[in-house]
Amino acid sequence: MNTFDSALSRLTQAAKYESLPEWFLETLSVPERTIQLNFPVKRDSGKIEIMSGYRVQYNNLLGPYKGGLRFHTKVDMDEVKSLAFWMMIKNAVINIPFGGGKGGVEVNPKDLSKAELERLTRQFTKKLAPNIGPYTDVPAPDVNTNAKIMDWITDEFRVRSEELKIKYNENESKAVVTGKSVENGGSLGREEATGLGGFFVLEQLIKKLDFNKPLTVAVQGFGNVGSHMAALLFENGYKVVGLSDSKGGIVEQSGKGFNVNSVKSCKLEKGLISSCSPINISNEELFEMEVDILIPAALENVITSENANKIKAKIVFEMANGPVMAEADEILKEKGIIVVPDVLANSGGVTVSYFEWLQNIEGKKWTLEEVNKKLQEKMETAFEEVWKMYAEKKVDLRTAAYVLALQRLAQKAGL
Ligand code: NAD
Repeated sequence: MNTFDSALSRLTQAAKYESLPEWFLETLSVPERTIQLNFPVKRDSGKIEIMSGYRVQYNNLLGPYKGGLRFHTKVDMDEVKSLAFWMMIKNAVINIPFGGGKGGVEVNPKDLSKAELERLTRQFTKKLAPNIGPYTDVPAPDVNTNAKIMDWITDEFRVRSEELKIKYNENESKAVVTGKSVENGGSLGREEATGLGGFFVLEQLIKKLDFNKPLTVAVQGFGNVGSHMAALLFENGYKVVGLSDSKGGIVEQSGKGFNVNSVKSCKLEKGLISSCSPINISNEELFEMEVDILIPAALENVITSENANKIKAKIVFEMANGPVMAEADEILKEKGIIVVPDVLANSGGVTVSYFEWLQNIEGKKWTLEEVNKKLQEKMETAFEEVWKMYAEKKVDLRTAAYVLALQRLAQKAGL
């Protein structure tokens, strides 16, 4: 099963609990528009390379297409389509007025100098500019993209829309992307929002399940999402005993857990997480750890029918998009493992992206306290709504979230 088929199978599963016309489900099973762009980028050596990028505008029933941009060697149409589909579901679950979109460039940004990265970003934006805009499609950061890259996009978009004679005022032209630096119109709290949003959801779940702290945690991926989430857990009494990045992981065997802030400083200094502890493990071994909570926070399709049987955690908390494949879901369910789906767990990022977009359009600046308070309200409301559906329909949390999303999409379509 490819990633997109695995993603769609969850929609089919949820559709069994709602009576919706076939045409509507068929509409939600295909992207509205897929864009592939090939464009030249000049390397520092003077050589010109043709690069490929994608943007999938999956569905805009609920509002402008919204979703991140990823720079990674594994980016292709199947991946971007799946990620855009998940954004459609996620935005409906968290209840913000955006549709689903996603994009990416097939490249390893670690092979590029800063100047090359900027030229690549500007070229991609130049080609994509006619298709994005504050009321059309609003990208954001994802794997290997950050505030600096979003700032370049904003700047290039302003130039390009003037050439295209598309008129936006100063505030609106900033709202073409979110996740910008605070100096360039970004929102306070956006960078850590995905991790913080996940933390709010996890705290609610622990209460519902009546689990006693301290709980042990292993986190795969130590980028924006994984490192912020792990640090918050550490600061709030969880024992983070396993951490990893793309090159491998580390384990804390006494059970008292890592000081995640020290690991963060170490990773910043040394580059690899494996240099931050004497006891190293592989990413596969991290998944097999005896922990209460396992948090995949790197890439999709990492929990498969091959390794799902080896998972010993009580909760799998999906901070990455699509880390558990559909066939693995079944195995985890049989083992009694609770899976908190990506479309709820990691929706804090797009929520604060929505706050950023609103602040830009309205020419306002919210304080960090305001942002975090509104984020907490949104995450806790969505959790309660998903939990209610879970209890009502007697389904797993993922199906419950998808049913909720389907109801909101159907209502907007007038069904
Ligand atoms: P990032 O680029 O900041 O970090 C990715 C991390 O994953 C890095 O530590 C990298 O070393 C690690 N990694 C990559 N391949 C790995 C592998 N095979 N095994 C173990 N670790 C690996 O990206 P991010 O923004 O933190 O995104 C991580 C995940 O969260 C993605 O699935 C992304 O779509 C999702 N997500 C991100 C946001 C956001 O706001 N950035 C919001 C929602 C969901």
